[in-house]
Amino acid sequence: MAEDKKILIIGAGIAGMATGCFAQMNGYQSEIFELHDLPGGLCTAWERQGYWFDGCIHYLFGSGANQPFNQVWQELGALVNRPIINHDTFMEVIGADGRTLTLYADPDRLQDHLTELSPRDADLIEDLCDGVRLFMNFDMSALQQKPKELMTMPDWRAMGQQMLPYTLPLAKWGPLSAAEFGSQFSDPFLRRAVPQMFAWPEIPMMAGLSLLAYMHTHNAGFPAGGSLEFVRAIEQRYLALGGTIHYKAQVEKVLVEDDTAVGVRLYDDREFLGDFVVSCADGHSTIFEMLDGHYVDRPLERTYDGRMPILSQLQISLGVNRDMSGEPHWALYLLDEPLHITGQSYDCIGVKHYCFDPSLTPPGKSAVVIMLRTDYHYWQRIYGRKLYDTEQRQAADICIDFLEKKYPGIRQQIEVKDVATPVSYERYTGNHLGSTCGWLLTDKTMMKMIQGMKKQLPGLNNFYMAGQWVEPGGSVPLVAMSGRNVVQLICDKDERPFHTTTAQPATALP
Ligand SMILES: Cc1cc2nc3c(=O)[nH]c(=O)nc-3n(C[C@H](O)[C@H](O)[C@H](O)COP(=O)(O)OP(=O)(O)OC[C@H]3O[C@@H](n4cnc5c(N)ncnc54)[C@H](O)[C@@H]3O)c2cc1C
Repeated sequence: MAEDKKILIIGAGIAGMATGCFAQMNGYQSEIFELHDLPGGLCTAWERQGYWFDGCIHYLFGSGANQPFNQVWQELGALVNRPIINHDTFMEVIGADGRTLTLYADPDRLQDHLTELSPRDADLIEDLCDGVRLFMNFDMSALQQKPKELMTMPDWRAMGQQMLPYTLPLAKWGPLSAAEFGSQFSDPFLRRAVPQMFAWPEIPMMAGLSLLAYMHTHNAGFPAGGSLEFVRAIEQRYLALGGTIHYKAQVEKVLVEDDTAVGVRLYDDREFLGDFVVSCADGHSTIFEMLDGHYVDRPLERTYDGRMPILSQLQISLGVNRDMSGEPHWALYLLDEPLHITGQSYDCIGVKHYCFDPSLTPPGKSAVVIMLRTDYHYWQRIYGRKLYDTEQRQAADICIDFLEKKYPGIRQQIEVKDVATPVSYERYTGNHLGSTCGWLLTDKTMMKMIQGMKKQLPGLNNFYMAGQWVEPGGSVPLVAMSGRNVVQLICDKDERPFHTTTAQPATALP
């Protein structure tokens, strides 16, 4: 009887809480162990003197009622009575001479705008916008409706039929990065701007096109209240379903007997026994520390040998006594003269503000965020030394000098400065190298994202992994579905039908 069975879950990020919710829906008892004193993991926000700095959601796939991924948010109660803020544009890329690429989500508008910027690139532009039009009906969540291990021949046939119209576009746009696509433009500004327009140049075009497509269909909005409110709603759903969360409870080891996971031991030596253990925490520490590297084969070794791409970043957050609502919510400035921060050169700087959600700042003020790719190892080397604080301060000062040029007077209006380094990400979430999304989604990891990775380790029974380290590219919906998939696998093992319930109908602003 599942009622007698217990699932122990490591980590109260989105994947951990999703695993917990689906476990409870299917009659299992579950307990979550979380090292931090908050739920959410990377999906979080922090408050400083009345300003909320959001550390995660720019866009939430599944924010639109009855659209791909929306069902999982309904099951997790994440969007109940939560207004959704939809943007018409993803970002503006601004050249040093002021030429601006406005990345409209509407492909017709985007096509007109880009063609006006560079009529001689009309064919490429049409190709790009046709891609956005096509991916509007692409249901990415279909890839995770069932774990691949449980798919029957009829399931594969149905998926094949569903995916058929996208086979060629996926083959075309999947292995093509924004950098490669951008290099085909003849207009020099677009040649620089296009590679940056989806936030990182190695991103597969397919992911960028899907993002614009989902934004246009209002299925990639921002949940009002931001990432932490969103997470709190899932935490409440889990508790209402009868689950238990232990905060400040860092798991040190997974307990194993006869190659079967039987429990967890915390750093404070408390032990908890269960029938299944699911790690929704960092992949590297799960496999090589909690399990001492005993359950690894060649493919896993290759995955963790340091060659898979990871994105570590610096987040500089500023509370500004100035209303920035007239500015683009995300502006990426291309620089002629690079900025040098901690020995790295930056030839573009992105500036985000959150004025579109008044609940995040005091009235008339703005939360401004700059995110920069950075080297984890440098920050890790200097952590604990005076230099660490100095470098944080200098990074903020260089960015403020830059902002002052773009938004004169802003320096005097800054009331709060906050700098998060990859070491901060690592300390608060345990993620390897301070990774922000597990394995970074690139043209090289695209196929792994589509296929998903194995959720069990070779030779170890009753143990599963869910979350961003088994769903390359990470992202909030993919990891929620990952937790759902793991509970489907456990139900299958126990020969029980998997079922779900819905919290309440989601309501979204039009
Ligand atoms: C700046 C930024 C922007 C992003 N933007 C978006 C976006 O716009 N849209 C989107 O969909 N996604 C976005 N993401 C990605 C998304 O946030 C992540 O992929 C996702 O939240 C990962 O969830 P997870 O549960 O798999 O892992 P995590 O969030 O890392 O959760 C793991 C949890 O395990 C806990 N833990 C670790 N080790 C232990 C241990 N030993 N014992 C107990 N607990 C432990 C951690 O504290 C953490 O709570 C963004 C991420 C960042 C950082």
